[in-house]
Amino acid sequence: MTKYINELITGRYQPTTNTPASEKHPNRNKRIIQFFLFGMAVDLLLIVAEFAAGISPLEDIHRHPWLYGYIFLITVVAFTFFGAMVGSREDQLEKLALRDPLTGLFNSRYLWTRMEEQWATGKREKSDSSLILFDLDFFKRVNDRYGHPVGDELLKHIGNILQHAARSSDVAARIGGEEFVFFLPNTSEATAAAIAERIRDTISRTALTTDKKHRINITISAGVASTNDYNSTIPRTLYAEADKSLYLAKELGRDQVVTSTSRSKKNVQKKVETRV
Ligand code: GH3
Ligand code: MG
Ligand code: MG
Repeated sequence: MTKYINELITGRYQPTTNTPASEKHPNRNKRIIQFFLFGMAVDLLLIVAEFAAGISPLEDIHRHPWLYGYIFLITVVAFTFFGAMVGSREDQLEKLALRDPLTGLFNSRYLWTRMEEQWATGKREKSDSSLILFDLDFFKRVNDRYGHPVGDELLKHIGNILQHAARSSDVAARIGGEEFVFFLPNTSEATAAAIAERIRDTISRTALTTDKKHRINITISAGVASTNDYNSTIPRTLYAEADKSLYLAKELGRDQVVTSTSRSKKNVQKKVETRV
């Protein structure tokens, strides 16, 4: 609630973070509460103004109860209604500009913007930021076997799992066909790896029953990278690091999580093995 009030006072609009698909109008609901409180504040201001003008509000309310009743009710209702309109419009705009239409996850435009912002604050806070790159395994086979619409249904299902797994500060985005990204500010590589592993495990254990009653099992591979050096790296560098880890996860047989740290160990191991 404090966040909402701050947002209203500063006028800085923050898109709703990982909203579950079940909550269809997050901004509208938020603005209804804000504008309702705003309406109450306006009523309170009226009473303060009466005090300042030397009128006793209590006596006046006693004298004209209906008039005050109407004023209070109309102000609050009008503000709440206005809030609902503003919030609905924000929901629409957010969906069009920042979200992937199929899964409802954020799109790459929003992801890069949030990463750039984190680079600015990360320099001050010196905290870790992590990135997880997910790619569904053998997704082409699903399309080939069941058709594109079933593939889309599966993508929506995966989007839902990711949306529920994301914490409020994380950015869960769909950046390509069957590629997804988690950007985790203030998160170490170990924590990011644990989150990626939990998601991988959930997806590998969940079978999707499609509208046409097909049961599909799919797995996902993930690459994790982390940084706390915001001067010599840029968001693209972090992405490239995670991409290398993802590539190795695919090479090692898919359905697994590889981090930058485990990748360097595995690469050393590989070099030793090839020398022997
Ligand atoms: P790998 O394990 O190596 O990632 O194999 P893959 O089959 O997942 O990878 P590949 O890149 O060969 O195929 C990705 C497929 O994703 C190809 C394309 O048909 C499918 N695809 C991309 N976007 C969409 C989409 O929006 N909907 C559906 N249904 N399929 C999509
Ligand atoms: Mg791919
Ligand atoms: Mg794939």
